[in-house]
Parts: sequence; C-alpha cells; structure tokens
Amino acid sequence: MAERYKNFIDGRWVEAKSRKTFENRNPANWNDLLGLFPLSDPEDVHRAVSAAKKAFPKWRLVPAPKRGEILQRVGELLRERKEEIARTMTREMGKILKETRGDVQEGIDTAFYTAGEGRRLFGETTPSELPDKFAMSIRVPVGVCGLITPWNFPMAIPTWKLFPALLCGNTVVLKPAEDTPATAVKLYEILEEAGVPPGVANLVHGTGEETGATLVRHKDIQLISFTGSAAVGREIAAACGQDLKRVSLELGGKNAQIVMEDADLDLALEGALWGAFGTTGQRCTATSRLILHRDIKETLTKQLTTLATKIKIGDGLDESVEMGPLINEAARQKVHRYVQIGKKEGARLLTGGETYEKGKQANGYFYLPTVFDQVTPTMRIAQEEIFGPVISLIEVKDFDEAIEVLNGTSYGLSSSIYTRDMARAFRAMRDIQAGITYVNGPTIGAEVHLPFGGVKDTGNGHREAGTTVYDIFSEWKAVYIDYSGKLQKAQIDNVD
Ligand code: NAD
Repeated sequence: MAERYKNFIDGRWVEAKSRKTFENRNPANWNDLLGLFPLSDPEDVHRAVSAAKKAFPKWRLVPAPKRGEILQRVGELLRERKEEIARTMTREMGKILKETRGDVQEGIDTAFYTAGEGRRLFGETTPSELPDKFAMSIRVPVGVCGLITPWNFPMAIPTWKLFPALLCGNTVVLKPAEDTPATAVKLYEILEEAGVPPGVANLVHGTGEETGATLVRHKDIQLISFTGSAAVGREIAAACGQDLKRVSLELGGKNAQIVMEDADLDLALEGALWGAFGTTGQRCTATSRLILHRDIKETLTKQLTTLATKIKIGDGLDESVEMGPLINEAARQKVHRYVQIGKKEGARLLTGGETYEKGKQANGYFYLPTVFDQVTPTMRIAQEEIFGPVISLIEVKDFDEAIEVLNGTSYGLSSSIYTRDMARAFRAMRDIQAGITYVNGPTIGAEVHLPFGGVKDTGNGHREAGTTVYDIFSEWKAVYIDYSGKLQKAQIDNVD
C-alpha cells in the first residue's frame, strides 16, 4: 500500500477535505511510487489561509532575532537530514545525488544566512529637515504570503521564499509543485520540529490550476511569490493586478555562454557541459545557447559533441551516473518537439535528439544530450525555453556580435563569457542584459547571499536571495518623531 501524505495546516497534518489524492512517481522508474499526496481543493486552501491569518498577529510581534533562532534550528535539522532528503529528492525528480545534495545545501545556507539577518534587518535613520525632529525607516511584515514553487529545485526555491518571509514576520501558505511534494513534506516536518508555531507556515498540495490559482485569488493573501514558467507568471501577475496584490515573479531563461577566441578552451568546455546538461538542462539558468567565436568554433564543437555522447545517463541514485531523466512524459515530448522544430528550421543535429530507453532506463523519461550546430539567433530553438538537455551552437565574428546575439531574446536571467581579456570582461558585465553574469564560469552556480533574478520576461523586477529578498517580504514604513512640542511643517517652515 502506498503511503498517504498530508497537508500541514495550523500545526497539524491533515488530509484534503475531499480525501482525494494524486500519485508521486519516480521519473527514472515510473513503477516506483513514492506515495499519495492530497489533491487539495479551494476549501483546503481556505483553511490554510485562515490558519495563517489567525497566526499573523502573534508571529508579527515575535522579535526578529528570535524568529531567526528558529530558522537557525531549521538549518541544523536540514543539515542532519541532508542525505535522506537528497535521496528522496532524487527519487521524486531525477536529479543526480550530487545535485540534490547541493539543492539541500542551498536550503541550509539560506537558513543560516536568514537566521543572521534576524539581528540585522536594517532600516535607516536620517536627519530631518526640521529641528527637534527624528526620522527613520523600518521594515514591517506584509501579512499572509502565498508561495508557489516549481519542481526543479524542490528544497532551495521554497526555502528562498519561506525563510525570509518568516524572518520578516509574515505567515505563509506554500503550494509546492505537484511533481515534488515529498521534499516539501520533509521541509515542513523540520519546520514543525524546530518550533515554528502552529499556523505560521502551512503547506497545501495540489494542482496549479486549482490549488495554486485559489491561493493567488484568495482575498486574505497579501503577497504572491511565484517561481515557474513565464506563461503561468503572466496569468498570476494579471490576477494579482486586479486585486492590487504584491507579486514577485521568477520566471524562465534562455541563457547563453559566450566563448571568445582568447578563452581557456578547456575551462569553457567544462563549463558548457555542466551548464547545458547539469540537472538534465532543467534549470532556469541552464546554458541553452553557446555563442562561439568563429576562430575556435570548430575545435570546441568537436570536443563538446564527443564529450556529450559520453555522458552516463541513468538513475541519479547510482553515484556513477552523470545525468538523470526529464521530470515527466510531457517534458520529454516537449524536448522532442523542439528537436523536430530545430531540424525543420535547418539546424544541424550533431548528437542526441532521441529518447534513451536502454535496459534499466526503459521505464524512465530519459533523453540523450543533444547538440545542434548551425543555429541562427532567430530560430525558435535559439529563442524559446526548451528546459531539457539541448544546446544550440551559434557562430559569431566578434565580441560585439556575441553580445548582440546574447541579448537578442525576450529573457534575461543568466549569462556567461569566457575570455582572458579584462576589457572585454568588463564590457560584458556592463552590456549584457541579464540579472546574472559569470566571467569564466558557466551560467549556473548562484550563491544564496547575492541577488537572484532576471530582466525582461524573466520576472517583474524583484530579486530573491541576497539582502534584496527583504524588499519582497517586508513593507517599508517611514517614521517621524517630532519632539519640538509644536506643529512643524515640512517644505514650508524653515524655507526662505
Ligand atoms: P510551472 O509554471 O508550470 O509551475 C510552477 C508552479 O506553479 C507549480 O507549483 C504549479 O503547480 C503552479 N501553477 C501552475 N499553473 C498555475 C496557475 N494557473 N495558478 C497558480 N499556480 C499555478 O513551471 P514548472 O514547469 O514547475 O517549472 C519550470 C519553469 O520554472 C521554467 O520556466 C523555469 O525556467 C522556471 N524557473 C524559474 C526560476 C527562477 O528563479 N527564475 C527557477 C526555477 C525554475
């Protein structure tokens, strides 16, 4: 009998009111059932939001350093359970163990970083223009926050939202992706054990269309923080716009790595392989375009193709495997559809372009590492997010063309340039339109204490992680204290 998992509402583990469930299966072997999870409906969302609303007045008044101490404990428990969580994550979404351990580590780093913020959470003091008057700005919580997350970083992304939200004094309802509910359950077990009070952090499983959309439209939710596709992000932004609800969006990418003729080619090659095929290409920051200077293009193309064909594919629980499956059949079909589009557009398939179903891999959503050559910047495979192990090679004649091609998509998340020329590196940092630029490193590898997010269609201007995340999860309040004992008028008194 498959284990039945629950929602976490008001400090208790509860079934969906309807008792309906959905299955969570291993993408490397669909015969492996991880468990059944509540298929929540609007009634369940309402219960979770009510619990969060009820808990808010008390939690808001807990001193931030004390809220930070709870998050410190959360970090310690995550560290104790790191291996167990990583194994569950690999089983539920397919990333290899090395990467799922990294995903949990990102949660641990975020917990400790956020815990420290409990003793900072700085505002500003500033002189008033009037005598005997004091002025300062302070952060106050927003209220009840709805958090909606994707499946590709099932621990890191929820913690990027949850921990700063809680630290600021908000209460939350998390709706994790339906492909990765088990990791979310483990996170909430830890929140409970660490002493997060009932109602402060609630968990509701279910589909995006029903559970997620209900959360977005709920009148008692003051803020939606969403990470996922641009298509869903647009819908959410429109709904939040109607209600004038605060909304932060972290959406897709079409990230590129530039390799100039003066680059360390071995380094650039290693970076491209990791950027393109790490997490089976299912990262918002994955390298899906490789922009190559024409002088080194042939050499690099040959080496990349040879190495791509050698990547060991399989179940991520096997430590020798280098690339796991795609998340589900719909994703595999989407990747394959783009391969057909690429061929039709005239790109040259150098390797891959097929599903991989050998031996033990017959029951998983595996796809071969795929390299397309002779891609032009306007082809659909060079413009649209594929979210799979597919890389498009684009030749350029010089630095200016490389930057123009890199900037020529609707997204602007991550970017990279390999060069030994310092002037080019600095020009790239200045001219690339993206939220993240790496010099001599691949497009993936963000650290939790720097701002994370992108420009253009990658989002709506917010940045998670770093200190910038606190601008999402708190309101600024300006405070004036007049101790002159008389009415003083700004802009009127004290002006000649
Ligand atoms: P998705 O947009 O399909 O789903 C994301 C979440 O939204 C899921 O929990 C889903 O259930 C929910 N959802 C779906 N429809 C909804 C609706 N109408 N209302 C409310 N919620 C809804 O994305 P995905 O396939 O899970 O994730 C892949 C996408 O996420 C890619 O585009 C990737 O680039 C992006 N992503 C972005 C970042 C970033 O930080 N910029 C990080 C990781 C992933």
